[in-house]
Amino acid sequence: MKTVSLEQELNPWEAQAARFDFAAQKLNLSEGLWKILRHPSREIIVYIPVAMDDGRLEVFTGFRVQHSIARGPAKGGVRYSPDVTLDEIRALASWMTWKCAVVNIPFGGAKGGIIVDPKKLSLAELEKLTRRYTAELIEFIGPEKDVPAPDMNTNEQTMAWMMDTYSMHMRQTVTAVVTGKPINIGGSRGRREATGRGVMIVCEEALKKLALRRENTRVIIQGFGNVGSNAAKLMADIGYKIIGIAEVDGSLYNPRGINIDDLLEYKDRNKTIVGFTGAEPHNSRELLVTDCDILIPAATENVITSQNASDIKAKVICEGANGPTTAAADEILAEKKVFVIPDILANAGGVTASYFEWVQDRQGYFWTERVVNEQLEFILRESFEEVVRYSETHSVNNRIAAYMLAINRVAHTIRVRGIYA
Ligand code: NAD
Repeated sequence: MKTVSLEQELNPWEAQAARFDFAAQKLNLSEGLWKILRHPSREIIVYIPVAMDDGRLEVFTGFRVQHSIARGPAKGGVRYSPDVTLDEIRALASWMTWKCAVVNIPFGGAKGGIIVDPKKLSLAELEKLTRRYTAELIEFIGPEKDVPAPDMNTNEQTMAWMMDTYSMHMRQTVTAVVTGKPINIGGSRGRREATGRGVMIVCEEALKKLALRRENTRVIIQGFGNVGSNAAKLMADIGYKIIGIAEVDGSLYNPRGINIDDLLEYKDRNKTIVGFTGAEPHNSRELLVTDCDILIPAATENVITSQNASDIKAKVICEGANGPTTAAADEILAEKKVFVIPDILANAGGVTASYFEWVQDRQGYFWTERVVNEQLEFILRESFEEVVRYSETHSVNNRIAAYMLAINRVAHTIRVRGIYA
């Protein structure tokens, strides 16, 4: 891949495009399909007026990018953050297309976002913002068109407001318009833990592949939110030793293993992991390059870059977060023979359970948690095997293999459907 500046390296759209170009070239993708898939199919920008609690009118900028609807309705989360950019939403939308294709579920890819610091808004202001954003997108979303879900700083309540707003416009309850809803209004059992569970499932597969034993496997996790804490809990329960946890305000290290149940209880009470006495405080940046067997970045983008990749000690990196590794870091990790389970496979448990939620809403029949977990395990194991097989057959790393598998599936659909003119 070509040399790029650090600024380009950290731009998520550039990161996505670098991997896409490389995989498309390896696939000998035709120039026409390359042009279609390299760019999103639709980008919507909305300016959202909100009457604030103090009587002022504020206008927020929101995005929804639909990268592809070739294989089914577009699917992807909505994030609220002051740093949201259109480039980031574009990258995340295309990642969703590839992710859904890797696990072979019938969705395309989308992502949404609003430039806002949700901590500065009251609950009433957040509700108005969410409802007006949904109303502005009313023609573009729907169970058969585009199905949003929670992402950074949005949650089950946000999805309940989106579902209700859409339903009010349709004059009927339409639960399948969003996923990640509360269970009592059409959510799925097992959805909340599904991304962390998926991380555990693919780590199990990697251990088998590398002939490693769980009991001897030391794990470091960055991020103790939804993905990181659920992965930590599920992995600790089956015998992995979680030796380090990194958070924004501090990190913990205990080479004998951290008691995750105690830590979850501590965090619940104190809203932070800092001060937990079952481990030593540690430097967050150093924890990523501390000796361990599996490193799980489960916080945010661009944490493994050309600046620190050569210091990574882990044998396996399992990407719970979206885009934690830059394209330049990939090359360094490949040289070091680190076994990377790429984000579009490693964190696909979430969208797979969202798919189950959408199916259950449309069936009007709700599955037990055991059925959700069994189906999730089946899909992720198959997908892991397919990615590894692709990587061996084509002599490429796991990330490029996952992209190739996904691009091939989407391209095949477009070829068969043809281009409407
Ligand atoms: P979350 O907000 O619940 O948790 C993220 C945690 O990471 C927070 O506790 C935060 O304090 C911490 N964090 C943020 N920046 C950090 C940093 N620089 N160093 C250490 N800790 C940091 O979010 P989440 O839902 O767990 O999502 C985490 C990542 O996983 C995101 O990249 C998200 O897009 C991705 N993801 C989430 C899901 C899902 O179902 N929740 C599915 C697929 C991918």
